[in-house]
Amino acid sequence: MTAPGGPEERRLREELVRRARQLYDRGLIAGVDGNLTARFGSRWVLATPSGLPKNEMEPDDLVLLDLGTGARTAGQVPSEPRVARARRGRIPSSELSMHLTVYAERSDVRAVVHAHPPTAVGLTLSPEEVHLDICPEAVVFLGDVAFAPYATPGTEDLSESLKPFVKRSNTILLTRHGAVTAGDTLAIAHQRMESLEHIAKIYVAARQLGPVTPLPDAEQERLRALAGGTTAEPDLEELVRIVMERVQARL
Ligand SMILES: [Zn+2]
Repeated sequence: MTAPGGPEERRLREELVRRARQLYDRGLIAGVDGNLTARFGSRWVLATPSGLPKNEMEPDDLVLLDLGTGARTAGQVPSEPRVARARRGRIPSSELSMHLTVYAERSDVRAVVHAHPPTAVGLTLSPEEVHLDICPEAVVFLGDVAFAPYATPGTEDLSESLKPFVKRSNTILLTRHGAVTAGDTLAIAHQRMESLEHIAKIYVAARQLGPVTPLPDAEQERLRALAGGTTAEPDLEELVRIVMERVQARL
C-alpha cells in the first residue's frame, strides 16, 4: 500500500525521524542543519521540516509533498510541489530544491540525505585536490565522490551547483557547506553519509603522515567488477561487509 496514510508512509515517517536523530547524535548535523527526504509510491515525498532540530522531530512533523502525476518519469519533478499534508506551522526546508533536482535527474533514487559532516566539508577547503577513493568501501559504496562548487544556501544556485554531478554520483560534497547522498533506499542514502564522514576522517589521518595515494586503478576495477558481478542488483551493504572482512583479515 503506497498511497498516503498507509503503512508505507507511517514506516517511512518513523525511519526518517530515527535516521535524522542518528545524524544529529553522530555530529553530522548541528542545530537545525540538514534535511532528509524519501519517496514512496509514484508521486509522494516525505520531507523534514524547516527550522526544527532533528533531535526534537516527531513523525508527524514531516511534510508530505505531492510531486504530481508526472513524477514517475525522470525530469518531470516539479520545482515547487504541492504540500499535501503538514502539521500547523511546518513547511519544507528551503534546501528542498536540491532533493527535487536529484529526483528529477534520477528516477532510481528513492531517498536523499543532506547533512553538514564536518571533516568531509573541511576537505572541500583543502588547497590540494582531494581523492577519496582510498579504501575499498569508498570505491564500492560511495562511488565517484563529486565536489560541487560553492553556492549560496537557500537559493536556486545551490541545486544548480550539484546538477552536473547528480547523474554520475550518489555522493556529492558541497563546497563550504555540506554533502548530499542519494540511494535507492533511505538506509543506503543515510549509510553513504556516515561512510563519507568516516572516509574523510581516514583521509585526514593519512594526510598527517604524508601524501595520500588512491587505491590503485586495477584494484578499483576489481572491486567494481565484484560489485557488479555479485548479483544483477548488487546488495551494497552485503558487499561492503564482505570487503571490510577481507580488509580486516589482512591487518
Ligand atoms: Zn545545508
